[in-house]
Amino acid sequence: MKCKNLWAPWRIGYIQGIADKKECFICKAVKNPQDDSPNLVLWRSKSCISILNRFPYTNGHILLSPMRHICDFSEASDEELFEMIKLIRDAQRVLSLAIKPHGFNIGINFGRCAGAGLPGHMHIHIVPRWNGDTNFVRVCSDTHLISQSIDELLKLLKQTSENNGLPAL
Ligand SMILES: [Zn+2]
Repeated sequence: MKCKNLWAPWRIGYIQGIADKKECFICKAVKNPQDDSPNLVLWRSKSCISILNRFPYTNGHILLSPMRHICDFSEASDEELFEMIKLIRDAQRVLSLAIKPHGFNIGINFGRCAGAGLPGHMHIHIVPRWNGDTNFVRVCSDTHLISQSIDELLKLLKQTSENNGLPAL
């Protein structure tokens, strides 16, 4: 079947406006350490912050970000780049110890068109996967089944980090 275009030029204002109106939740978390628990902050390291995704694809979905509001690698310092890679390693480790995923998807969406919910502040998605975690509920209704409360998971990951010498707050 040939794909057709439906032109809707009046939407451009809305599309461009989304990014401007929304408060950056990563910057908000960085600036408010007293709210680390409600903001689901797992770790703070020298130049990066690690947060549980409030709208996870799967249980244990972590977001790793530089603390600075930068949109991509071209603006990151060497220190930030190195720290992000180390945090990918640590995030895989804490999740493997705590909830034993069978695999991971790790990636970054650059730009809203590529799926970035927050295009101005780069963040790496760490998404744990299990055999069979894509099921009919996900496919037919775009609904994610999450089997554990996010607060319970945050506690477990903090405890696992402490027990294994991983980053902390
Ligand atoms: Zn930001």
